[in-house]
Amino acid sequence: MIDLQYYSPEELIEDDFFATKKVSVYVKRDDLIHPFISGNKWRKLKYVLRQALSENKKHLVTFGGAYSNHLLATACAAAKFGFKSTGIVRGEPVKNDTLTLCTLFGMTLTFVDRESYRDKELLFDKWFSNDDMAFFIDEGGSGPDAVEGCAELISELTQPYDHIICASGTGTTAAGILKGITDRNLPSTFHSVPVFKDGRFIRQEIEKYFDFPPSFTLHLEYHFGGYAKTQPHLLNFIQTFSSSTGILLDPVYTGKMFFGLYDLIRKNHFPEGSKILAVHTGGLLGLLGMTKKIQQAI
Ligand SMILES: *Cc1c(COP(=O)(O)O)cnc(C)c1O
Repeated sequence: MIDLQYYSPEELIEDDFFATKKVSVYVKRDDLIHPFISGNKWRKLKYVLRQALSENKKHLVTFGGAYSNHLLATACAAAKFGFKSTGIVRGEPVKNDTLTLCTLFGMTLTFVDRESYRDKELLFDKWFSNDDMAFFIDEGGSGPDAVEGCAELISELTQPYDHIICASGTGTTAAGILKGITDRNLPSTFHSVPVFKDGRFIRQEIEKYFDFPPSFTLHLEYHFGGYAKTQPHLLNFIQTFSSSTGILLDPVYTGKMFFGLYDLIRKNHFPEGSKILAVHTGGLLGLLGMTKKIQQAI
């Protein structure tokens, strides 16, 4: 059986700023799920891996950028659950800490130029048509199975929340959380913070999983210049947050989401008395690729 035992509590953040604003903020600690099969990446992989197993596949083939948390999660999960794995990496061959960890977990890495990378199904068909053990997993592990896994976050909650917020790259995690909220008829309002410049496309990406999309809010102004782009004041915010809570954030996803959350609270976006849940989607090893920038900023 493909499963992980994990602990992902909802932790209250004690902060005078929240007390002044009369809101309470909890963090869903999905970063504690697993050090490598981290956070939302486990939720997204769970049913995909079960599908691979039920089809008797033995070789996971997936895709990602050179710092992809999804590649690392897939490499570790493949090792843990008895699959071979291949990671097809976008761009020129490079070496970095994330890819080194993937290699330690036995993943074979293949680099492809950005143009060929666009058509992933074509690449898979071209290279793995002779391997009937190979199983295609889309970049980031998107799709209905991934959404179903992410929806389970909501069924774990121990109390009701007025607002639930998470960072979005593809919107799959957001779609799952929103599905969990809708399926249970919870009154929680959902918020997504896209980490891309012009993240409006995330709305369609979330809505495509629904026949009748429920309403939710996108906060488009916390991308800091685009995907994996950062600025010294974001890194300073992360240091302030981490040093006062003991919870690490990464600059690519959770740092931007928490920065946005603090800013929205500052602007009185949430009514007094609101109980807010921020989802820590994990991915902390992404910090490894950024330590130079962080050292320069703080
Ligand atoms: C991949 C990732 C996300 C983005 O999730 P999507 O489902 O693609 O929106 C958010 N946070 C972290 C830490 C991630 O690694």
